[in-house]
Amino acid sequence: MDFSHWERSPRSSWRMAVLMGANSRTYKFALGAALLDAAAEGRSEILLRDLAAPYAMGLVRHLGQAPQVSQKGERGEKDFLSVAEREAAESLRLGSPTEELLAAAVDSMPRMVMRKFHNLRGEGAEVPHRFYEVTGRSHEKVVRLSKELSDIARSEQAPTLRGELSARWSIVETSFAAGIGRSLIDEGVAVDMTTLQITDRRRRRPVTGVTDAVIGFQHGLCMICAELITPGIDVIAVDHVFPYSFMRLLRPGGGGTAPDLDAVWNLAPTHAWCNGQKSNRPPVPAEMIRLAQRNEAIMRSPHPLKKTLKLTLEHNGHKGTRPGQWFTFVQHVRDLL
Ligand SMILES: [Zn+2]
Repeated sequence: MDFSHWERSPRSSWRMAVLMGANSRTYKFALGAALLDAAAEGRSEILLRDLAAPYAMGLVRHLGQAPQVSQKGERGEKDFLSVAEREAAESLRLGSPTEELLAAAVDSMPRMVMRKFHNLRGEGAEVPHRFYEVTGRSHEKVVRLSKELSDIARSEQAPTLRGELSARWSIVETSFAAGIGRSLIDEGVAVDMTTLQITDRRRRRPVTGVTDAVIGFQHGLCMICAELITPGIDVIAVDHVFPYSFMRLLRPGGGGTAPDLDAVWNLAPTHAWCNGQKSNRPPVPAEMIRLAQRNEAIMRSPHPLKKTLKLTLEHNGHKGTRPGQWFTFVQHVRDLL
């Protein structure tokens, strides 16, 4: 059962669009954040230029932290990102985009990011729900925000969607950074268990929190009870699905070493209460299936979380990226006990 069949809802379509598409630039995240904000205000339509302002400012703020385009990305002087770089300092000083930046955003959004947002990677297909439609004439375009967008932006789960969007943005822009990006793409990410942050292996600097980085791939559900985790109400814990204390009990597997239980593949957000109840028991079959499904979903997202999981499989003698490998691997770890 793949990601979209697991939960076929506007929220899962949103996650497919934000978490799973290919990324050569970060425009999609800036658009996603601007759309969520506009819909959260209860608007059903917005002038393109009013959506373009927060979109452009989101990108400009991120430009100060990391590159917003992959090293391979080509661009010319009229490229929106080139304009954003030129206009960044002045826009930040003003607290709103300069006229030139705004005009470039209004011009490029309908042609670029807004045409691609709903696309699924490499399949010529789109996610099953639409979040907006661009209408109106060229001089004053209007963006109609769909009911599906309004529902997700105004639900209790909206803060989770924002958190995972911002985590994905951090992960992707870090993978674009010279030096660090290469190591992330080649070696995957590490986890700092003290702070529960995903870090790059080279600098050991935090990129984003484990919970925000992976919760979207498990549909915002607790790995133990499979109920929604509601931000602001539920206390969240990061569970070792196979308890860490099992490390010394595991016999070496196919790769000659025992699987690392302190790694992304085995860590999952849960309700703190469920985590406390679970204590040190091994995962039950339903939890193992959910963990495998979650990891299969991550394998469909681009670097570097996918790379991290791929390396886990390889180091343990499971070569290749066949769909369904995680079900075999999780059972294999259970059998090592
Ligand atoms: Zn729970």
